[in-house]
Amino acid sequence: MLLILALAAVGAYFLMRDLSGPSVTLTPGNTGRIGLAQTMELNMSDKSGIQSVTVTVKRGEQFMTVLQQAFPTLETSQKVSFSLKETRLPEGAFELEIRVVDGSYAGFGRGNTTTLNLPMILDSQPPRIAVKTGPPALYRGGSGLIVYTVSEDVDKTGVQVGDLFFPGYKQDNGGYVCLFPFPISLTTGSFQPEIMARDLAGNLTSSRLLVHALNRNYRSDTLNIPESFLNFKADELAQLCPEESSPLTQYLCANNKVRIGNDAKLIEVASNPANVSPRFLWKGSFRSLPRAAVKANFGDFRTYVDGDKQKIDEQTHMGLDLASVAHAEVPASQDGRVVWVDYLGIHGNMILIEHGLGLMTQYSHLSEYSVKVGDVVKAGQIIGRTGTSGLAGGDHLHFGVLVGGIPVQPLEWLDASWVKNNITSRQNISF
Ligand SMILES: [Zn+2]
Repeated sequence: MLLILALAAVGAYFLMRDLSGPSVTLTPGNTGRIGLAQTMELNMSDKSGIQSVTVTVKRGEQFMTVLQQAFPTLETSQKVSFSLKETRLPEGAFELEIRVVDGSYAGFGRGNTTTLNLPMILDSQPPRIAVKTGPPALYRGGSGLIVYTVSEDVDKTGVQVGDLFFPGYKQDNGGYVCLFPFPISLTTGSFQPEIMARDLAGNLTSSRLLVHALNRNYRSDTLNIPESFLNFKADELAQLCPEESSPLTQYLCANNKVRIGNDAKLIEVASNPANVSPRFLWKGSFRSLPRAAVKANFGDFRTYVDGDKQKIDEQTHMGLDLASVAHAEVPASQDGRVVWVDYLGIHGNMILIEHGLGLMTQYSHLSEYSVKVGDVVKAGQIIGRTGTSGLAGGDHLHFGVLVGGIPVQPLEWLDASWVKNNITSRQNISF
């Protein structure tokens, strides 16, 4: 009996040693601005367990409890969420009081309390967007740029095209610039870009963006895939698709499954904020491989046939194939920063240079690299040499231009007057 009492006393002593209140974090809570519909999440933890939580809204002399909860069992961490939807609070300043009590015996069994008094602003007004440039004319497969302003600070803004999002970047004059594509996979009917902005309190504005969507037809092409090509590529195909057993099924797997993964990787690289400069890093227009013949165009709809002229596949070609001499030096198309130097499936050895606002140039099938990730390069600087790595039959450069990771028509960017009329002169407007 004495022993039990002694053990109980020791236990009580250890429980009483918890003299600090629970740690409490509120998300989102860093901005102090919240919207009525926004869901707030409270994370609470304490070594003695969480006993109860109370959340009260205070405004002047008025107060209202928006959450009161006691937990039947003491857990070392608890998570609750709440919103201010029912409070009918007016716009403006108020205080949020959060009281969390732990399960210790401190304070004669009342537990330790953490009380947070957070000054907050209720903001239920969505931001207003004003587009400052005229409606951009975008050809199917091409690029467009808009400049716009937003009435308040935002945590997200840009142009949404179906599932794809292209962020707008704030410039020194306070306006936002957004570069976005008319993906070649869409039609003038299905290309319906939306412009959106979400403020720090989670209020969202989204509306159709006025554009001139213009059709552009692309060529059809037939590509022979003879046995000699499959044999030439045998080792690389076996590496790309080890689960397939024949050279032909390996090729089809590379041209479809691997291609889809590679396309997703390009979007992933472009979606990493660390890879995007919020300003254009260049002036003028872009250059391609010098003294080269164009072997294939962007948008070529390719039917693949085998040695017996039987159709085995079809794909759209997403860049310019440029052939010069074998192992020709490859210059950077424009000033920018190298964000990728690595092997990527069908592209083989590939370099990506980011030029600002999510615009990238792509150099595929290389045999050699002379830059590394992070290098700042100048237009014309040699970055590598052409080759046959990836799904390339002969030595050439696959030159791509990507907007937010989506391949666009490179001929627009290689055309100085197109760049001036559609990009730089629009970007430089004053308002
Ligand atoms: Zn190509």
